[in-house]
Amino acid sequence: MLDRDMIVKNNRIIGFLIFTLLTLSVFLVGCSAKTTTAPTAADEKLKVVTTTSFVGDVVSIIAGGAVEMTVLLEPGQNPHSYQPAPQDMVKVFEADLIFVNGLGLEEFLDDLIAGTGNADAVIIVSDGISPLKRAEGDHEDEDQEGDEGHAGSDQDPHVWFDPNNIIIWTEQIAFALAEKDPENAEIYLENAEVYREELKELDGWIREQVALIPPANRELVTDHTVFGYFVEEYGFTQIGAVIPAQTTEAETSGQQLAYLIDIIREEEVKAIFIGVDFDPTLSQMVAKDTGVDLIPLYFGSLSAGAPAGTYLTFMRHNVKTIVNALR
Ligand SMILES: [Zn+2]
Repeated sequence: MLDRDMIVKNNRIIGFLIFTLLTLSVFLVGCSAKTTTAPTAADEKLKVVTTTSFVGDVVSIIAGGAVEMTVLLEPGQNPHSYQPAPQDMVKVFEADLIFVNGLGLEEFLDDLIAGTGNADAVIIVSDGISPLKRAEGDHEDEDQEGDEGHAGSDQDPHVWFDPNNIIIWTEQIAFALAEKDPENAEIYLENAEVYREELKELDGWIREQVALIPPANRELVTDHTVFGYFVEEYGFTQIGAVIPAQTTEAETSGQQLAYLIDIIREEEVKAIFIGVDFDPTLSQMVAKDTGVDLIPLYFGSLSAGAPAGTYLTFMRHNVKTIVNALR
């Protein structure tokens, strides 16, 4: 057992050295350009990595500056198709905690974690949420091989479209930080408590907004099936998607597109909602064919600054845009 542990450890170190060499030049350039600052208490801070900007936002609110944060995905980057950079390997290797969405969202994650051997530091913030299977509106026939090229799991990873799920994230994050860094536990738990109230308030506000849409208009068509949790919580129907899958990395067929175009006409759908982080070409074709509006929303990431720079403003912006398009 001891030998085996040594080998694993050595492999981890060798792997790390390779990635360090790969990125060393990048760091040297970066360091020489910066002014030198005296070493601070930052050295003792917990090193925390998150994948998406949603997880990053929630962790930074709960951590309140008590940790050193790295968010791997930048605003506008699609979490399904993201390719990690060598620097990401270094950050993940050095991290005390790695917060991830989970449920197959980060299709790059398994390789990244395996490459650094730091699996013990991973916290899946969506643990504790009952995952939806295929969203409503995923109408492809069961006997068709519609799931081909579906790289993710059968579970819907888009949990962040329901603020009640973010309350569960908040608990996961606060407990993990408090356990790893007991000195600051009180800060984490207090911040989580305050944020939980803001999430509950957001939930109430969404219900008020949705009430402004006539019930017959509460139908959603999107570029891929992102709204499972939103639909379930706030009484919409997702009647179809341009890519009828829970990842943008899946494929669609002419038959499926023809079916979508039919149902958009039949149901007199008013708009197709598309994520700004995904190629709109196919959605543009469907919109042109059916004469419905194409409405951009934020799906896979926050925006850099306004209008969707934090999770709370992201949800408010998306919901306002949906209400304006459908009321
Ligand atoms: Zn997605």
